[in-house]
Amino acid sequence: MTKLFTQAIILFSIIIIHLHVNASTMKSVITESPMSSPKQPILIEAPMPIEAEYLASKLKNIQIEHSGYFTFYIGTLNNYPVIVAQTGKGLENTAAATAIAIEKYRPIAIVNQGTSGGHDPSLAVGDIVLGERTVNIGNFKTPHKKKNEGSAPLSWIPMDIMASKGSAGESSDAEKIRFYEGSPMLLTSAMAVKNLYTRGKVVKGTIGSANFWNNEIDRISWFHQYFGTSVEEMEGAAAAMIANEYNIPMLGIRVLSNNLTNDGKYDPSTAKDCQLYVLEVVKHYIKTL
Ligand code: SAH
Repeated sequence: MTKLFTQAIILFSIIIIHLHVNASTMKSVITESPMSSPKQPILIEAPMPIEAEYLASKLKNIQIEHSGYFTFYIGTLNNYPVIVAQTGKGLENTAAATAIAIEKYRPIAIVNQGTSGGHDPSLAVGDIVLGERTVNIGNFKTPHKKKNEGSAPLSWIPMDIMASKGSAGESSDAEKIRFYEGSPMLLTSAMAVKNLYTRGKVVKGTIGSANFWNNEIDRISWFHQYFGTSVEEMEGAAAAMIANEYNIPMLGIRVLSNNLTNDGKYDPSTAKDCQLYVLEVVKHYIKTL
């Protein structure tokens, strides 16, 4: 009986020692690992594979996660965590991918980048616009017209869907344009490396987004005049809106792949040049953190 008791004591002591050793190794692993103060990643968004894959190929220690329609390339750039999200095209995909990425990965900043169509005749295919402002150019309220009076898109009134929690149809408070400001810190980084971009100019401007590909020059000029748009694309305003709702710095960076206002023909090779530049912007931003 005593022998059995002694054996039980010994076994119990071994278990306690084992647990203690394990706990202390675990503790040292936790304190020594860089994971003890995980850095918040930078999220770079790209709608199409041609706008994402080059960026993703430049990340190290890559892991790929899928969520619904979206692909997240999770890796590092200069030892800093960076995630490239392939969002798919359009506002809905971008909004959903942005919200999912924010909830899942808690990014410190978001860059939404890719191709765009010029609204400004002084910008050539290959030039880059930094979204000092981003605006949804698909949110409108139409004036009243009776049967057979037709439709006149250039008389449509801008509508701010975030103006209130009430009906935008009833309230004239909603009849205004909402601009989202690009992050000043990201803009500073983008301006600091602009000379590394040699394919064209890099300028600050206004990015307009809607699920629209406008080919009517008068409509394009109307946006340029009344909304101040430099380019149009289909994602930036959704990313800006969601980033703003979560208070996360965001910047749109768009290369012109086409510009109808000066006969600039569509050139998909611009997508890669934009990614090269975005990498430089993000590397610079990492140094400032
Ligand atoms: N030629 C491509 C077009 C893609 S659709 C294809 O057939 O696959 C539009 C995508 O390109 C969107 O992600 C949008 O952000 C961008 N884009 C480039 N130029 C645009 C323009 N002029 N108008 C709207 N979106 C444009």
